[in-house]
Amino acid sequence: MISVEEALAIIEDSITPTNNFEHLEVSKAIGRTLFEDVISPINMPPFRQSAMDGYAVCLSNDLTYKIIDEVKAGDGHHPVLKKGEAVRIFTGAPVPDSANAIIIQEKAHIESQVLTATVEPSLHENIRPLGEQTLKGQTALKRGTLLTPAAIGYITSLGITEVIVYRKPSIAIVVTGNELAEAGNDLTYGQIYESNAIMLSSALKNLHYQNISHFKVEDNYKNTIETLEKAFASNDIVLVSGGISVGDYDFVGKALQELEVKQVFYKVKQKPGKPLFFGKKENKIVFALPGNPAAALSSFYIYVYPALQKLSGNLNFSLTRTKARSTSSYAKKGDRAQFLKAIYTSGKVEILEGQSSSMLHTFALANALVYIPESKNSVERNDEVEVILLPIN
Ligand code: AMP
Ligand code: MG
Repeated sequence: MISVEEALAIIEDSITPTNNFEHLEVSKAIGRTLFEDVISPINMPPFRQSAMDGYAVCLSNDLTYKIIDEVKAGDGHHPVLKKGEAVRIFTGAPVPDSANAIIIQEKAHIESQVLTATVEPSLHENIRPLGEQTLKGQTALKRGTLLTPAAIGYITSLGITEVIVYRKPSIAIVVTGNELAEAGNDLTYGQIYESNAIMLSSALKNLHYQNISHFKVEDNYKNTIETLEKAFASNDIVLVSGGISVGDYDFVGKALQELEVKQVFYKVKQKPGKPLFFGKKENKIVFALPGNPAAALSSFYIYVYPALQKLSGNLNFSLTRTKARSTSSYAKKGDRAQFLKAIYTSGKVEILEGQSSSMLHTFALANALVYIPESKNSVERNDEVEVILLPIN
């Protein structure tokens, strides 16, 4: 059985960003990663621009200026100023070539079209130079940049409507178990509602993975092989839930073997999620997650998340980790590393009650996992602990 750190290092080593890319409309590119640098086709701003509401002046030695014209945002005319002249101007408006400072209106006293500066203006103040932010031909954003709302806004401000991004993998979610009933139907004795498929697909959609297909199979060796074969045939990634443990009716491990999946690792010294399997079938990747819902989800975040993000070209593929003071105590049983459902708020973290791998009621409130390494036995109140922030917003 390998350690959490070994498992994470193995995943990082064995996954390289895909070479698959696609052209996408910028409006559809949120959450995607740039496959190529974005080069600016224009200077931004495209003209000398007023940063304030006030008066554009052609500086003279005097503090008074004669107001000769007005330029508002969107205007295209070019008034010509002589020394000692001013034009009324507004934020975003083009600054006449002959103007060399903007006096903000709060520092201007106006009487019969004559402006008196209450503070001496300085050369170029409140003028945004042409191309101040980005020059035409310059790299605006580099390959590997994640397209956040700000990045999308920035690209669009340069007039760009299409980007080249890493193609996101297609992902199959395969749930296993005879006991699984579909929500919306009545439960018969011995059944539980199947919840891992929608939970995992929601986590994926939250991360902008859209190409998801669902498979469901009962605990039957032959059917498990057939279903997994179908899942592999049409997807880059296969996520299996359940059936990977050591019970007589856990057929996933054997089925993966039959399908010639190469085991990279099986079992991690952690709680929850000990029976985690990571394998490869040619260039396809499979994670078999434990069926217990909280174990499935924390394994998803800890291992599947960085794998998918790295594959999708994201340079920041690791979850954010930070340190925080624990507001609760926790006694760890056994020597496995643990991931504990927790709520993190500004430097403090509360380890929640109800850590069972079968239960989601506290995971539903959590925004973080507290990581307790193998070497640590308990957490006392006020101890500094390692916190892994969940990408759930
Ligand atoms: P397994 O990993 O198949 O042994 O399942 C472990 C536990 O998780 C069992 O109690 C299962 O009933 C439960 N479980 C497995 N798959 C799901 C699922 N898709 N949704 C909800 N619970 C599940
Ligand atoms: Mg099962």
